[in-house]
Amino acid sequence: MEKVIKYRCSECGELFDTPEKALAHEIRHERIEKANEMLNEGENGYLFRAGDVEDLKNKIEDAIMSKRLKEMGKKSKEIVEKSGYAEMIEGWKNAIKYALHTK
Ligand SMILES: [Zn+2]
Repeated sequence: MEKVIKYRCSECGELFDTPEKALAHEIRHERIEKANEMLNEGENGYLFRAGDVEDLKNKIEDAIMSKRLKEMGKKSKEIVEKSGYAEMIEGWKNAIKYALHTK
């Protein structure tokens, strides 16, 4: 019998073979949270559960059917004007890095 040690993400519970992989994963959670700070679900954008195609489909349908995109765009502009463009740009950079798995 072989004893196997796994490292659990404190945020979502996902298991990793090494502490380095678990730490890198947890850092990605932090970056996602930062990028999402400017997004209020259903108010100025949509969030969907990672890997959940049905959730993504529902959000796209809602975006198309609700006809609130123009209103959501105005809300986003207000949020960006309040918090500053530098923070918005940093949020986008983090989101892109996350999507490309470069960080
Ligand atoms: Zn996690």
